[in-house]
Amino acid sequence: MSEWEKLIPKPKSKFIRVKCPECGNEQILFSHAATKVKCNVCGTILAEPAGGKAKINGEIVAIFE
Ligand SMILES: [Zn+2]
Repeated sequence: MSEWEKLIPKPKSKFIRVKCPECGNEQILFSHAATKVKCNVCGTILAEPAGGKAKINGEIVAIFE
């Protein structure tokens, strides 16, 4: 089980698909991640916690409401 799967989504939170800026891998992650999220392929940090909302380091290609 990965870190983000342990998180319980809050009402305003979303899952987003982010494209890794380094290798182009697309990965689904939680928009309010409380821990750093790394690319599954190359290990680049894709999201890190920033005051309740995650700072996203890649391109957001889809948002799941
Ligand atoms: Zn990557």
